[in-house]
Amino acid sequence: MSNAISSSLVYKGLVIRDRDQMLCLTDMWKAAGSPVNREPYNWVRFDGAPFIQFVASNQNLSDTQVLQAERGRNGGTWAHWQVGMAYAQYLSPDFHAWCNSVVRQHMEGRLAPPGAFVTHTEFRQFAGQVFDAVSEVQGQVTALQAEARSRFDLIGEQLSQATRPRKEISAKVKGTIAVVTAQLGGYCPCCSRHKIVDDNGRKVAEAEYDHFYSNQMPDAEHVWLICKPCHDDLTFGRVSRVQVDIHFSSFQRKRRDHFG
Ligand SMILES: [Zn+2]
Repeated sequence: MSNAISSSLVYKGLVIRDRDQMLCLTDMWKAAGSPVNREPYNWVRFDGAPFIQFVASNQNLSDTQVLQAERGRNGGTWAHWQVGMAYAQYLSPDFHAWCNSVVRQHMEGRLAPPGAFVTHTEFRQFAGQVFDAVSEVQGQVTALQAEARSRFDLIGEQLSQATRPRKEISAKVKGTIAVVTAQLGGYCPCCSRHKIVDDNGRKVAEAEYDHFYSNQMPDAEHVWLICKPCHDDLTFGRVSRVQVDIHFSSFQRKRRDHFG
């Protein structure tokens, strides 16, 4: 392995090892209290298998980038962190909630999409600087930074909608986006949870085409199709677009692979 193991993930005193994009599922299982019949080797073969396949295809990962089994005393089952998040949900609600905040942030923080002009981390830092500058001028932001950051995104969106008419997404762009989504398995590319394109390639009712950057940018490279819960979260500012930028970039890479 290229990178040293880092061990900043500790749950109830137990270390969960991670390296590159991988998490040790065996450590997760132990940290969640070693629940009987929920060991990783069973989960990856049965309950977890469809999601593992989905992550491999959605993220364009090889078999060993998505799942590894290591023998020996310090061995265990390792998986891509998105698979780890699904496994956490299977283990316990408390543990899943912790993973959703701490582990997700830890793993996403180290991502840098290949070919991007700015890395994800740089983008976050930049968004943070803009946010800090604005809140200094306003002199009124004292609430949680994350919440305020989402609201800032929302205000920007509302301002641009108020001043210029929304540019609608064309039927052709919608068709392209639906085809890419179907080729990725039909799941929401934002949360990977909800099926948004059915087996006939049709968008389900509970899915929305979303202008990712601005309602002035309706072309295929600035649009995706996501589930209604994700769309609501983004529209009402409960989730900031900076937080899901990595999923949008990944979706767009897939679109370029298919349509250039
Ligand atoms: Zn979603």
